[in-house]
Amino acid sequence: MNDMLSVVIPIYNEERIAVGVRRVMGVLADAGIPYELILVDDGSVNDSWNQITDLANEYDAITAIALSRNFGKESALCAGLDAAEGGCCVCMDSDMQHPPEVIPEMYRLWKEEGYEVVEGVKNARTKENPVYRFCANTFYKLLKKMSDIDLRNASDFRLLDRKALEAWREMPEKNTFFRGMSTWIGFRRTQVFFDVAERETGTSKWSAKGLVELAVNAITSYSSVPLYMSTCFGLLFLIFFLVMFIQTLYMKFAGQAQSGFTTVIILQLIIGSVIMINIGIIGIYIKKIYEEAKGRPRYIIRRKIKGGRRDEPSE
Ligand code: UDP
Ligand code: MG
Repeated sequence: MNDMLSVVIPIYNEERIAVGVRRVMGVLADAGIPYELILVDDGSVNDSWNQITDLANEYDAITAIALSRNFGKESALCAGLDAAEGGCCVCMDSDMQHPPEVIPEMYRLWKEEGYEVVEGVKNARTKENPVYRFCANTFYKLLKKMSDIDLRNASDFRLLDRKALEAWREMPEKNTFFRGMSTWIGFRRTQVFFDVAERETGTSKWSAKGLVELAVNAITSYSSVPLYMSTCFGLLFLIFFLVMFIQTLYMKFAGQAQSGFTTVIILQLIIGSVIMINIGIIGIYIKKIYEEAKGRPRYIIRRKIKGGRRDEPSE
């Protein structure tokens, strides 16, 4: 049985990567876990790639992959997971907000208790910005309602067995959402809880725009409820229309047709905005279909260095 653990770490413009990487290797070595580390440089514009190649040259267990540009964390994870050769793999952030000390427990649950997916679940964060927490909670509630996928406090920090990994890789969508997809596949699963550490170095790479995009992507990937919503709005307004229609006719025959100007304006505004919103929703789904139909690769590898040896650019 292949009992090697592949640890995949996406990296984008990070500083002092070696500190975190050595910490991970220390924990795994202490626990006696056979491992490989896959560091994916997601098109960083600082010296991240140099830091990563230095590490790959120093340690045989490290594979370094550079993407041809910044594809985003999801694609970087795909690149890393595709390169993973272990019997199981763990994804984690390079800023050590996912404490590596939890990995041996995840590995034990996989190896000794036969779980195929071990999810890292965040303990409630106390220091989080309340606005952010409110937005995140609303988002998870919406997602749970619309798609039955509960991602509250879920993270990308999770262990996948080889079988689960293959199932995930066989999903053809180009636009991936790792957290959601690796929940959707099922398998025997369990959870471990961890405290989110403060970021060790550098700053968070997520902008508000990026988070909104992620939220829209997640909802439209797992739910078609927004599309049905258009029909519901439509029906609601149909009832409204009927009432107004009868009232207008009545006014006309009663000879009071001049009034009702306000109603017309209000109706125009409401109907106009509802139609615009619904066209927008349909547009989002069409964009997704269009992007999937193009069938572009999830990422492009510029360079790959395996345990000190330089491979030709591939894929
Ligand atoms: N990351 C990436 N590509 C991106 C943005 C982020 O590979 O376009 C990596 C980043 O280097 C880090 C992880 O994804 O290892 C999580 O990023 P970050 O800490 O900025 O996100 P947060 O912890 O705030 O969710
Ligand atoms: Mg972080």
